[in-house]
Amino acid sequence: MANSKYEYVRNFEQPDVLLPNTWIVVRIDGRGFHKLTAKYSFEKPNDRRALDLMNAAAAGVMKELPDLVMGYGISDEFSFIFHKDCTLFERRASKLTTTIVSTFTSHYVFMWPTYFPSVLLTPPLPSFDGRAVLYPSVTNLRDYMSWRQVDCHINNLYNTTFWALVQQGGLDAKAAEKELTGTLSSHKNEILFSRFKINYNNEPEMFKKGSVLFRDFEISSSAETTAPNPTSAPVPSDSATSPDIAPPAPLSKTAAEKDRKRRLKARIAIEHIDIIRDEFWDQRPWILSGKAP
Ligand code: ATP
Ligand code: ATP
Ligand code: MG
Ligand code: MG
Repeated sequence: MANSKYEYVRNFEQPDVLLPNTWIVVRIDGRGFHKLTAKYSFEKPNDRRALDLMNAAAAGVMKELPDLVMGYGISDEFSFIFHKDCTLFERRASKLTTTIVSTFTSHYVFMWPTYFPSVLLTPPLPSFDGRAVLYPSVTNLRDYMSWRQVDCHINNLYNTTFWALVQQGGLDAKAAEKELTGTLSSHKNEILFSRFKINYNNEPEMFKKGSVLFRDFEISSSAETTAPNPTSAPVPSDSATSPDIAPPAPLSKTAAEKDRKRRLKARIAIEHIDIIRDEFWDQRPWILSGKAP
């Protein structure tokens, strides 16, 4: 860049480099989706087309950013995990967050006609906000993911019951809300079953568990044989993937490039499974190791 008397303004830019050796979670969330779902008449409580579109956009993001090890989506939100060793954009928070948000939004808008072929998208167009949060340990990271999946379950059970009361029970929104105030999960299950013959357990896994995206290498067979025995399964700790004392030596440049290529080539799996228990992580050690097997 040519020097000019204006160049001093660069000094106003503040550094926002994220702490090294920490897991970076970028969570994005649809702006004003309550209104958007009404505008485009999304099926309530879960419009499958909209969830598939969210997942397709997230898969597009994962494909373009091989540094991402995982994604998890519910409703109008998606969490993307950068490995703790990630050095993309020198770990600058705004670069990472805005890249995810804009890549996701482009894919979302681009693929809208595939999932809503007869629904014309008009301004205000869908948009997303985003933030980057750091988690210093695998335990913290897994607790974060568990938090989102528990949220998915709680919200979905509530919404399923609420909309059954409205759509099948003939209640208005206010009355349905009142009916559900202070109820426990067991009450909601009971309302669904006794009044509407809905067994919550039979609801689609996508609605109950959310969507988990990861690179699909083969499931580790050694982990598979140890996972069913909880006493012998390794306790998830940071030492399980790398020692806490010092970060592992980085891969050589060529090895890192080879690894990146393998990650770029891998298919993005979209599953609706439990990520709270150890099994998911034990069977896919490459997610936390960040190395293609
Ligand atoms: P904000 O801009 O603060 O995020 P918001 O209106 O997007 O506001 P959220 O708390 O993010 O509010 O809630 C998202 C809304 O979109 C909820 O009402 C949720 O039920 C709805 N929604 C998201 N995805 C779907 C879907 N696939 N089907 C039906 N409704 C959906
Ligand atoms: P990064 O991802 O780091 O931003 P970049 O390739 O986008 O990398 P920039 O520093 O943003 O690099 O520079 C943008 C490049 O695009 C420059 O080479 C600039 O000349 C070119 N460019 C931008 N707008 C136009 C345009 N309208 N016509 C022709 N070239 C353009
Ligand atoms: Mg929202
Ligand atoms: Mg939301």
